Amino acid sequence: MDNLRAMREAKYAAAQKRGAEAPTRPKAPVAPPLASTVKRATPAADAAAPAEGLCGHRNMSGRTCTREQGHPQKSHRYS
Ligand SMILES: [Zn+2]
Repeated sequence: MDNLRAMREAKYAAAQKRGAEAPTRPKAPVAPPLASTVKRATPAADAAAPAEGLCGHRNMSGRTCTREQGHPQKSHRYS
C-alpha cells in the first residue's frame, strides 16, 4: 500500500514539474504589465536629468523643450 502511495506521489510531482515547464504559466501574464509600469516611469526621471537649466518639457513625439528653464514664452521650442 505504501508503495502505491509513493508511486502516486511521484507521478503527482512529475505532473507538477511538467505544469511548471508548460508555456502557459499563470505568472507570465502578470509580469509584462509590471515591466511596462517601470518603462513608463523611466522617461519622467530621464526628463529631469538632461534638462538642467532647460525647460525640458516633452512634446508628444518625445522631444524636449530647448528653451531655458521657466521660460516666459507660453510655447515650447523643440529643435
Ligand atoms: Zn518649454
